[in-house]
Amino acid sequence: MRAIVYKSTGSWYSVKDEQGNLYNARIKGVFKIDGITSTNPIAVGDEVEIEMESAGENTAIITEMHDRRNYINRQSPRSKHHHHIVAANLDQSMLIGTLREPRTSQGFIDRFLVACEAYHVPAVVVLNKADVYRKKEMQQYEQWKEMYEDVGYRVLLCSTKEHTGLDEIIALLQGKTTLLSGHSGVGKSSFINYLLPHLNLKTQDVSGWSGKGTHTTTFAEMFDLPAGGRIIDTPGVREFGLVDISRQELSHYFPEMRALLQDCQFNNCLHLEEPGCAIKKALEEGRIYAERYFSYCNIFDSIEEKTY
Ligand code: GDP
Ligand code: ZN
Repeated sequence: MRAIVYKSTGSWYSVKDEQGNLYNARIKGVFKIDGITSTNPIAVGDEVEIEMESAGENTAIITEMHDRRNYINRQSPRSKHHHHIVAANLDQSMLIGTLREPRTSQGFIDRFLVACEAYHVPAVVVLNKADVYRKKEMQQYEQWKEMYEDVGYRVLLCSTKEHTGLDEIIALLQGKTTLLSGHSGVGKSSFINYLLPHLNLKTQDVSGWSGKGTHTTTFAEMFDLPAGGRIIDTPGVREFGLVDISRQELSHYFPEMRALLQDCQFNNCLHLEEPGCAIKKALEEGRIYAERYFSYCNIFDSIEEKTY
C-alpha cells in the first residue's frame, strides 16, 4: 500500500495512505538509498510502500521507498560528512523573510535561492511584517521585487499581523507541496497558524528573536492545507546547506548567469578575473545586478574547495 511520510521522529514515521488514514510506521532491516550516506534514510515527503503489522492496528512497516523527484539536504550537526535529508518530493520552496525586526539579508536570500536551484526546487520569496515597514523598507522591497522577478523568482509582501497580502500567497500554495523556511523571528509560525489555526504553533514574544534562543531539536512535519496542497514546516532548520556545490558549478545556480556561461572565453571560467568573461561584461553593461554578483562572490568565497 502506498503512503506518504508526514513526519519522521528518528525511528518512527507518521505516514498517510491515499485514503487519508494515518499510521505509525517503522523501517525493517537496513535501508540503503542511492549510496547516499544519510543520517535519516527516509524523510518527510517520501513516498513509500507500507504493510500492516497486524490487523486492526495503526502500526505499519515501511518496505520500500519510491524514487525521489528531488530532496533538500543539510549537513548533519554531528558530522561534516553526513547529510541529513530535510524533505523530499517538493513542488516548491518558500522563504519567509522580513525587512524589519529582524531584517533578512540579501546574502541569506541568495544562499537560499542557490540551494533551491541546486536541488531543482522552484523558489518563492515572501517578505512579512509589511505593517512595520517605513519608506526605506518599502523602497528596499520594491528594489528586491524588481531584481528577483527579473531573474525569475516571485517576491510577495504580506503582514500576518494585519492579514494583508496573504490571499496571493495562499493561492501559490494550493495543490502543491511547499517547504517553508525562514530564520527565526520572521513570522513563519504566525503564518502557519493563519493557514492552519487548529495547529496553534507556539510563536515567540517580541523579545524572543533578539538573543540566544533555546535550540530545541524539532522535526520537519508536513501538513495538509484545507484547499488542497501541503506545507512542510522545518523548525530549527535555519538554512539548508550548500553542501554539494562546488565553486566551479556555482554560477549554474544563478539563472541570469547560467544563461551566459557559454559565452565566456574559457569553459572553466569562474567569472572573477578571467579575460573574455561574459558575466563580467554583462555586469559592466548592467545586464547582471551588481548585488547578485556580489552575492556570487561571497558564496564563492564561502565554499571550501574539495580536496580529493
Ligand atoms: P518564527 O520564529 O518565524 O516562527 O516567528 P513567529 O511567528 O514566532 O513571530 C515572531 C514575532 O514576530 C512574534 O512576536 C510575532 O507576533 C511577530 N510577527 C509575526 N508576523 C508579524 C507581522 O506581520 N507584523 C509584525 N509587526 N509582527 C509580526
Ligand atoms: Zn566568466
